[in-house]
Formats: sequence, structure tokens, C-alpha cells
Amino acid sequence: QGQVTKDFDKESLLDADRSHMWHHMSPYNPNPMIVTEASGSWITDIDGNRYLDGMSGLWCVNVGYGRQELADAAYEQLKQLAYFPLTQSHVPAIRLSEKISEWLGEEYRVFFSNSGSEANEVAFKIARQYHHQNGEPGRYKFISRHRAYHGNTMGALAATGQSIRKEKYEPLAPGFLHVPPPYCYRCPAGKSYGKCNLECAQYYDQVINWEGEKTVAAVIMEPTITGGGVLVPSPEYMPKVREICDKYGVLMIVDEVICGFGRSGQKFGHQNFGIKPDIVTMAKGITSAYLPLSATAVRAEIADKFNEQGNNLHFRHVNTFGGNPAACALALKNLEILEEEKLVERAEELGAELRAKLAFLADHPYVGDIRSFGFLMGIEMVEDRNTKEPAAPAKLTQVITECKKRGLIIGRNGDTIPSFNNVLTLSPPFTTTSDDIDFISQVMKEAFDTLA
Ligand code: PMP
Repeated sequence: QGQVTKDFDKESLLDADRSHMWHHMSPYNPNPMIVTEASGSWITDIDGNRYLDGMSGLWCVNVGYGRQELADAAYEQLKQLAYFPLTQSHVPAIRLSEKISEWLGEEYRVFFSNSGSEANEVAFKIARQYHHQNGEPGRYKFISRHRAYHGNTMGALAATGQSIRKEKYEPLAPGFLHVPPPYCYRCPAGKSYGKCNLECAQYYDQVINWEGEKTVAAVIMEPTITGGGVLVPSPEYMPKVREICDKYGVLMIVDEVICGFGRSGQKFGHQNFGIKPDIVTMAKGITSAYLPLSATAVRAEIADKFNEQGNNLHFRHVNTFGGNPAACALALKNLEILEEEKLVERAEELGAELRAKLAFLADHPYVGDIRSFGFLMGIEMVEDRNTKEPAAPAKLTQVITECKKRGLIIGRNGDTIPSFNNVLTLSPPFTTTSDDIDFISQVMKEAFDTLA
């Protein structure tokens, strides 16, 4: 711990923050929490208050805070080789690409960038170029889902299915279409699970037909829509979409930015559904967010189309920082920790424990639905359990505030229509203990009790 982080005066820092900082998502936030240190699942603010970080930052600090081994891996690599562009190669990137293929269970070729948004942009460009090289240059459209979030850049934002995030920035990249999400609690087709024909998956078939199958390049989906309110699909959904993609020669891009690296209880979220994507994008948990890094993994068979012959087949995309050696070395150490401490299996157990200990919430008059996927959870709040009218925004704010007062940070997500932003979220680090889960459960109980 150096002077930089220890020597501070809160009021002067807040003054400087107000004058110079532009916070993410916030128009003006005069009193941000200034976080100064963290260890395991717990963060400490400038006043010395400790909080259990129930969101792992932004669903990303999977192995928990304060891991000396991760800092050392980056430090050692920075001393040996701080940088070289990936137009050539370096050892940490080679080893990491090999490891990612191993985790995916077959041969993929990996393109490195710095953020989830960039990884998705790369996936879109590769998908379009693949079809060019496959003799079908007319395939340029992408199908995503309403409520999905895929990033903040013009293509990734176009793929995002939340209108309020987009409305002041349009026109975005053209060619992005959306289908309704799999959302059994509010089934877009008005059916109920078990008595439906998987309409949520069939929408793809219809849209591909109506648009013209030879115009569609790829679909993009998360294994579970996370930022859009934790919408967990039925077990049959992803296999059905895979089948439809195969039927029409459409590529399947799976966005594992949140669900990857153990969060789902498997190495990657899609492995819960027994399918093989054509392209997998990943970020966040790849380094447990200790350094920026993302990756776009492309099935070897598709990547091979780029190597057939001639320069015109090259993928013309370069990213200066993408695959920085220190970030790759740190990511490798992060994956080693996940393996050695059996944290992927642990995430599955923690998810089950969290579900069991929060099961009492299912009876709460303002809780409509509780959904979980591995070690992440969404609690959808309603005004009335019969009409399913979304809970007033103030009720969610109250639960979040009461949790924070008691030392627990939780998240909030959902649709972008403000009244539908009604899902509380939890996605704690895998270092969370059983005692921590008892703490989460006790605090959530007290916070919900204040609504009575
Ligand atoms: N995809 C998903 C599913 C995400 O949740 C996010 C970020 N929350 C992104 C992509 C974009 O990642 P980044 O913020 O690193 O650009």
C-alpha cells in the first residue's frame, strides 16, 4: 500500500471529483462512495465503512479482491515484456488462447481486445466477413433480443435491446434486429412453460424467414440475459436456437461477458445447455477485472476461412492494447486460481446456498419472481403478485438503501422503461463464505421488512 492510496483527505477529493470526474451512468453524483481498498468479497470506503460487494463490482471480480498472486503475475510480466502488438505474438497471449480453447472444450482461435463491447464488435465483423468469404456477402443482419445488453459502442449498442440506453445516440450501426426474450414470468407469447411450443425460440425461425435467410449473418445472445433483469431461459431454448441457426446457415455468437469464467456454475454459461457456439465473446471474469482484457473465440472451422489464400482474406482489425502481455499473464493466473481452488464448482454450490437462504423472499408481497443462474440472482419486484404490476421504483431504491446502510451492496436491473427497472440483482465474488451468505440473507430480510 503506497502513499497514493493512503494519503487522502475526503473533502478535497470530493471537491476534485465534483470538478473533474464524469461518472459512468450518472448525470451528476455529488456524493459518490469513494472506495479505497478491498479484500475477498468486502470493500472499504474512505470513511472506513465495510460492505459486502454483492455485485462483484459490475459482475466481474469473480475470484475476489486483493489477490497477491494476480498482482505478482502482472508485475513480473511487465518487467519482462510490457508490450508487443498482436500482429506478431507473445507468450502470455499464446498460452491464454490455448487455455481458453481448453475451457471451451474444442479448438477455437482467439482474438484479444480490451472490453466486452470490443469483443462483440470483433464478433460482428468476423461474422460478416466469414459470409463474404463463404460466397454469401448479402448476409449482414444480426438478431439479438429485447432487454439484452451487449455493450456501449455503436454496434454493440445497436445489438442491445433496451431502448432508453440508445435513444439519444441514434442512428446506431444498421442491420440489427431484435426478437422477444425468453421470459417465462411474463411470456411474450402469453403461454406458460410446459404448455408452450417454445415460441421464444421459434421467433428466430420466423424473423429469419421474413427477413430472408440469405440476409442474416448471426444471432447474438447471452446464456442468460443478465443486465436486462436475469432472464433465465428454459433448458430447451439454446439448443432450439442452435438448431434454427444450423438450418439457415446463420452463425451463433454467445456473449459470455458475464456468464463466463464460472459465474454460471460451469466454465462457460452455454455449457449448461450442451450447445457449441460458433463465436464466444468474453471479458470481465477473464481477469476477474484486475486488468482490462477481452476475447473473441472463433471456432477453428470458421477461422480457417480467413486463412485460405491471399491478403484480401485477412481480418482487417487491429487493437493497440488488445491482449496486453500483463493482462494475459494475469488472466492465466486467474484461470489457474479458478481451477486450483475449484471455484467454478464452488460458484454452483454458492448459488444453491444463496437460493436456499433467500427462499423466504418468495412469500414477500412485493416479490413476484426469483430467478437464478449459477451464482447470480434476480429478484423481480411487483406491486401486486396477481396483476404483476412492476413495483414502484421507490420500493427498489428503499431496499437498496436499507441494504447499504447495513453493509451490503446489491444491484438493480431490468428493462429500460423506468417502471420496469424492477429487478434486484446479486452476483457476489466466489470467495463469499457461508457466513457471508447468512449475512446477505439477514440484511435482505431486514431491508424487505422496512417495506411492510
Ligand atoms: N456484454 C454483456 C453481457 C455485458 O454485461 C457487458 C457489460 N456489462 C458488455 C457486453 C460490455 O462490456 P464492457 O463494459 O466491458 O464493454
